[in-house]
This record gives sequence, C-alpha cells and structure tokens, in this order.
Amino acid sequence: MKKESIYGLTLDQLTAWLMEHGHKKSRALQVWDALYRKRITDFAAMTEVHENCVRLLEEHFSIETLEEHVKQQSADGTVKFLFRLQDGNLIETVLMSHKFGLSVCVTTQVGCNIGCSFCASGLLKKSRDLSSGEIVEQIMKVQLYLDKERPGDRVSHVVVMGIGEPFDNFVNLSDFIRVIKDHKGLAIGPRHITVSTSGLADKIIEFADSDLHVNLAISLHAPNNEIRTRIMKINRAIPIEKLMQAIDYYLDKTNRRITLEYILLKDVNDGKEHALELAELVGHRRNLANVNLIPYNPVDEHSQYQRSESESITGFYDVLKKQGISCSVRLEHGVDIDAACGQLRSKQIRKDAQGSRNSEREAIS
Ligand code: SF4
Repeated sequence: MKKESIYGLTLDQLTAWLMEHGHKKSRALQVWDALYRKRITDFAAMTEVHENCVRLLEEHFSIETLEEHVKQQSADGTVKFLFRLQDGNLIETVLMSHKFGLSVCVTTQVGCNIGCSFCASGLLKKSRDLSSGEIVEQIMKVQLYLDKERPGDRVSHVVVMGIGEPFDNFVNLSDFIRVIKDHKGLAIGPRHITVSTSGLADKIIEFADSDLHVNLAISLHAPNNEIRTRIMKINRAIPIEKLMQAIDYYLDKTNRRITLEYILLKDVNDGKEHALELAELVGHRRNLANVNLIPYNPVDEHSQYQRSESESITGFYDVLKKQGISCSVRLEHGVDIDAACGQLRSKQIRKDAQGSRNSEREAIS
C-alpha cells in the first residue's frame, strides 16, 4: 500500500497528527529537524526521536516517493531532473545557478490543461495534481543532491513555474509554500519564492487574501486579447480585462511588486507596436510591475513558433524602457540540454513509449 509523503505535512499539521496519536508537541519539532535540517531520509535513522514515534511514522508515512529517472547537467550549472512518481508518471524539476543563489523550479501537476500553444508541457493533458508532499520532495531531492555534490550549498530561491498551473492545485500549493518557508525547517524566505500563474483571476484574488505572502508572476505573453487568445486559450475564459482587475486587487491588497512574464515569439508578439501596446496596458501599475521578457526556446512540437531575432528583443526592451516600464530579459539556463519547460519530460515519454513498442515487437517476432 502506498503511504502518504511526510513532506506533505506542515509543522502545524504534523504536530496535530502526533498529538492525536498520543505524542508530545515537542516530538514534532524533533521529527521536523530530522527531516529538514539533518535531512534524514529513513525514519529508522532518526535516533533522537523516540522509537514508538519512529514506528508510528513508519506505519503511516513515506519519506521518499520520487525516484530519479534521468538527470541532465548543463555546462552553465543547470541541472534538470526527471523524477518518476510512485504511479509511474514523470515530472521535471530544474536547479539553476544565479549570481544571487541557487533556485529550483518545481512542477505542480502531471501535465497541464491550460494548453498554451507554444508550450511543450501543455501537449500532455493533466492527469492529476501533485500532492504537497510530492512538490516539497522535489526541493528536498535537489537539496540532497547539493549536500552530496556541492556540500554547503543550499536552495535559496524557489520558482513555481514548472509543468502545470499551480493555482489549479491551490490547496497543495499553499501547504507546499508553508512547509518550505517554515523558519524551523528549510527557511526559504517568502521574498525568494515566486508562483507563476497563467492568469486564473479568482485564484489571484484568493492568493492576495491568503497568509502566504510570496511573490506572484503572471504569464501575460500578449498585449491584447486577439494575440493572447491565439496563443493562450485560457484567455477566452479569462480575458485581459478580467485578469487586470484581479491584478489590481492583488496590488492594492498586498502592495507587493508583480512580474509580468512575456514570451517573445517571432512575428507574433515581438513588434515595436506590441511593446507600445504592452506599455499602455501596464499603465498605472508600472510602479509595482516588472516585465520579464523571455526569448522563446523553440520546441519540435511547435514548429510554427520561432525565436525572435536579437534586434527585435533589444528593440522591444528599448521601447518599454522609453515608456518608463521596468523590464528585464530573462537569462537562459541549460541551453545545451532540453531547456524548454516540459521538453525533457515529453522527449523521455516518447523514448520510453518507443522502447516498449520495440520490446513488444521483439517479443512477437
Ligand atoms: S505554459 Fe504553463 S500554463 Fe501554459 S500549458 Fe505550459 S505548463 Fe501549462
């Protein structure tokens, strides 16, 4: 029988669970310390925890539920992990090195239903949400890799920008954030955690009203409804006007800066006229918004989209700057490996399917 991942419990939930089972409150802190500070991955090795408690935990929980299936390392220090979940599904997690620290990009769903037309991940429909434990464990697996390969280094930043729409898995996302920012555990600062959404307006409002207080990024990708609907079908249900209302609510409520993500697609949304339209759309929000321009990483599955010429990227950036919009161009990571989100996973799934077809053929012949 598959057991629940212990990483899915917040410290409050773990404390309540242990107390319900007859243990003292302080026991939860010992377990928490063993999991996140000592990073022990076997209950039996938690020597500071009473043996009755260890036995109880062994009966009800697992620590390791992800198995490393493939790992790709880039010359720039990026490491892409493909993990196999207990049900056989594959997910991607990426470690990136920056001047400011080490960040991890996590996945929140198996596949994605948002269906952005430029995205390799969206080709594979969502089959299920990840549990909070499966999301936390991605960070733990990367931290354990660092502990072994680069002792002393720690995951300092987290971006929820991998496969899936995080706000479509809101409860598990929230618990995940509570676990990783807990100052008695991994203690990742709230300002170092960023959640990226395709623009689920109701959830942006719920996020603003929540106690999570981490950064928000919006995948805008277009300056008007015509282009946005063409490249992101979610825009039919939640057009830009509705998205902007939710963003305004978020900004008023939190007074935190947001990031507007903008993938530059050659001859689709990368003209100077688009930059001017985008500047107008950002409008009065400019003091609390940063536009992050993302040069597109072409994927075989979407050959209709190409990367913008470097002059177009610079031209777009210059127009925004002239209009007083704070903006940056995202640095690329892992260009020598499968850099686009979901690319490694979809390649591997095709490879695995081909492998099993070949073995079926061999078995028949
Ligand atoms: S870009 Fe994000 S939201 Fe859009 S299909 Fe890909 S994973 Fe889903």
